[in-house]
Amino acid sequence: MSEIHESPQERIEREAEKPMVVIEHLGKQFGKLRVVDDLTMTIREGETFGLIGPNGSGKTTLIRMLVGLTRPDSGSITIMGLRQSDARIAATMGYMTQSSALYTDLTAQENMQFFCDIYGLRGREQRLRIHEMLERVDLADRAASIVGTFSGGMKQRLSLACALVHKPRLVLLDEPTVGVDPELRRSFWDYFAQLNQEGVTIIVSTHHLDEAARCTRLGLLRFGRLLAQDEPETLLRLSGKATMEDAFLYFASRQQEVQA
Ligand code: ADP
Ligand code: MG
Repeated sequence: MSEIHESPQERIEREAEKPMVVIEHLGKQFGKLRVVDDLTMTIREGETFGLIGPNGSGKTTLIRMLVGLTRPDSGSITIMGLRQSDARIAATMGYMTQSSALYTDLTAQENMQFFCDIYGLRGREQRLRIHEMLERVDLADRAASIVGTFSGGMKQRLSLACALVHKPRLVLLDEPTVGVDPELRRSFWDYFAQLNQEGVTIIVSTHHLDEAARCTRLGLLRFGRLLAQDEPETLLRLSGKATMEDAFLYFASRQQEVQA
């Protein structure tokens, strides 16, 4: 939608960016419910792209299609120039699910070993990466603790470490900050910015609209449809609103007008 508003210069700049993920006319229906509806968006290399929308807007379904766990009904997904179904891309992606995928009767170390095994990290490389990631999420001293004893925030930190252990180039994080205290939320977002600096592309879903400002660009989703896609400041400017919450409501009311 925002592309209608951009200047020729902006379009040249946009097209110069390297696309990491190209989603075209993607659709998914469960029974009669259209959960993702003719979605077209581009995610650029090295950015943090935020999927913003209320519960039920299709964020998890979209992420699952990007990871290859849910098959689209229509449209296409291209990742690093390859079709989503290409076996080569799986190893370059990391995925943190919305509800914890950790084994609560195993230790933090054992959970990480499990993820390493999936991605083929073994021996010394595995030990080094596990240690490095546990250090980064500040859990190194809890490596031998059973995950069932962890707080919600510790589990989120460990889930993030598991999703990143194989150095993916594209990371999909489904509401990683749900149930996380403000201090840890900030440290997660600082870490995402650091990963972008290292060239990692992040797609992150959230319904915390205050987190939207920390994303490079946003896709606003409602009823599986894209309301707008642009940089946070641009969305505020286009809507003439001061907060992302008001901007979201503005774009949502425009969607309703179009439907009426
Ligand atoms: P979000 O992550 O934005 O909350 P979801 O993608 O989880 O949205 O869900 C979008 C809609 O699709 C919801 O109405 C949900 O109930 C429905 N849905 C999701 N997965 C399934 C499924 N496997 N079968 C039927 N309906 C589903
Ligand atoms: Mg969800």
